[in-house]
Amino acid sequence: MGSAAECLPAAVSNTSASLPAAAIAKALLAWYDRNRRELPWRTPPGQPPDAYGVWLSEIMLQQTTVKAVIPYYSAFLKRWPNVGALAKASRDDVLRAWAGLGYYSRARNLHDCAKQVAGKFGGRFPTTGDELLMLPGIGPYTAAAIAAIAFDDRVLPVDGNVERVISRLAAVEQPLPASKPTLRNFAGGLAPKSRSGDFAQAMMDLGATVCSPRRPSCMICPLKDFCSARRQDIAETLPRRLPRPDRPLRHGVAFVALNERGEILLRRRPDKGLLGGMTEVPTTEWLADWLEPEESLRTAPIKTRWFPVPGAVSHTFTHFRLGLMVYRAHVRNSAALTLWARQEDCRWVSRDAIKGEALPSVMRKVIAHALADIDQE
Ligand code: SF4
Repeated sequence: MGSAAECLPAAVSNTSASLPAAAIAKALLAWYDRNRRELPWRTPPGQPPDAYGVWLSEIMLQQTTVKAVIPYYSAFLKRWPNVGALAKASRDDVLRAWAGLGYYSRARNLHDCAKQVAGKFGGRFPTTGDELLMLPGIGPYTAAAIAAIAFDDRVLPVDGNVERVISRLAAVEQPLPASKPTLRNFAGGLAPKSRSGDFAQAMMDLGATVCSPRRPSCMICPLKDFCSARRQDIAETLPRRLPRPDRPLRHGVAFVALNERGEILLRRRPDKGLLGGMTEVPTTEWLADWLEPEESLRTAPIKTRWFPVPGAVSHTFTHFRLGLMVYRAHVRNSAALTLWARQEDCRWVSRDAIKGEALPSVMRKVIAHALADIDQE
């Protein structure tokens, strides 16, 4: 799945470039009836979709693989089986349950959206793309996906998988992202009058299982008779992409302090911005250059003797890569926090309780890195 910014929905249009839409729909839906992926958010054939499950899965699938999403989806549904239950949850509980899935603004928006649906809409999701777009965390792609899958609206949401299938069907050689309007135009003519939701999911499944990025399985593809790229033997080269510029690198220092009870010092990040509202070990700012050791230690949360942990922790965010040096310390007097640490509401958390904290992956890596060093002592 792609982000809303990258993946535009394709509204049905009479002026779209043409592919044999009716024949494609017939072949693809017949294939889907035999080969659809069983996914926890899909209801069995013949049963109406559950809008809450569709919405929850679509938010989780933004920039995230199906495999990574399934355990989170199941845990959320078990704990908050409907939008009203999720709306009543505390935001910290939602962030904790989301920890590890990444792109944490999604969790904050998810909770805000649940509150709006439960409040303004009486617990029922709006059914049109335009209304869905007004809700927090729902961009054009997600609105189209929910409208198609939950309400059978005649739109084809164009995620990365669908983009690839259409690039190949129509042999679009212009590289992405410039080709997006062209792909959208082709897609616009494809959504059938009935079973639009199944058609959208069938396109996603075909891209995920048959029309794969490398070595597409054209021999077993239900659309092989309509595929220009297969005929020209260029399928594997499509879609073309302009090379992405390298992500910039940022650097910082993370401080892992343990007290006499073996608890670790944590703080909550500010609500706004990257990883907003999540938990972390205290760090310096993340800057273009490494800080000098003395300079970074001036911002440590406790005045004590800090030891550098060999190696560094690296993590890749959407727009930058991060390298973190890690310092560790044992403190006897856990009350000896600096003024900054007290103002930031730093708190001591036991190693067992860490698992339940809203710690993003990068912070779990930092803590594991420091503890591995301590355990070697
Ligand atoms: Fe993809 Fe091959 Fe099917 Fe064309 S024939 S849509 S390239 S799997």
